[in-house]
Amino acid sequence: MRADRHHPERTKGVIVTPRTVLITGGNRGIGYAIAEEFVAQGHRVAVTSRSGSGGPEGALTVAADVTDAASLDAAFTQVEQELGPVEVVVANAGITKDTLLLRMTEDDFTDVIDTNLTGAFRTVKRASKGMLKQRFGRVILISSVVGLYGSPGQINYSSSKSALVGFARSLSRELGGRGITANVVAPGFIETEMTAVLPEEQQQDYRKSIPVARFGQAEEVAKAVVWLASDDAAYITGAVIPVDGGLGMGH
Ligand code: NDP
Repeated sequence: MRADRHHPERTKGVIVTPRTVLITGGNRGIGYAIAEEFVAQGHRVAVTSRSGSGGPEGALTVAADVTDAASLDAAFTQVEQELGPVEVVVANAGITKDTLLLRMTEDDFTDVIDTNLTGAFRTVKRASKGMLKQRFGRVILISSVVGLYGSPGQINYSSSKSALVGFARSLSRELGGRGITANVVAPGFIETEMTAVLPEEQQQDYRKSIPVARFGQAEEVAKAVVWLASDDAAYITGAVIPVDGGLGMGH
């Protein structure tokens, strides 16, 4: 039953299919907010962090480093045992190592790719095993407005984030017939620890370019992610959903 403006009482009884959800990097920031929102909607939720601690109340926290396939495999196995097969995976763990091209070392480049892109590959590959068996899956990749907009000092980060679009679209074509959707959420400037470290001047510049004239909140990203995982979004795949106050319009 869905909410219906002609039958307002029904809005109280919206039925949400409970799913098992795994979010990488859920001990703070956007991942934490996504986990909180899934918990609030009654799903079975697990988050990973490298320490194995943190995460919101009501979610299972497991240790995993997305740069290490074995640790991810162990985390998935634990979640499958405790909560059931993972039906929704959110590849959210990400890092920055910002510096201009001439100063960027190869390690600065490959470390960011290894976490943000190859980390998503390891996570989704592991998740896809169970999804294929169930013939159901929701894959949501957390990209960034910077992926398609570009940003000086972020060649590594921007490359890792734009690649997620090709990833989701290829996955959509590969597994769409098996009940698995793959979408990208591209946040703009969201107030978290990641952006708190940016110089005030850079923050001011960003603020001037954002049509809604403010930074976003992690909860605003979470709402889009949870909706993409819902039954209402079953016919959406290969999409890039911006949550950026209009910063990246046209992408
Ligand atoms: P935070 O720095 O606040 O959190 C990053 C999360 O990623 C932490 O939970 C961290 O866990 C986890 N993480 C980092 N490296 C690894 C790793 N190797 N293995 C497992 N987990 C890891 O970042 P945000 O919440 O701001 O960002 C979350 C995502 O959203 C990132 O992908 C980011 O690129 C993206 N994004 C953020 C924007 C913003 O404005 N904040 C804008 C656009 C995109 P721990 O270090 O404890 O293990």
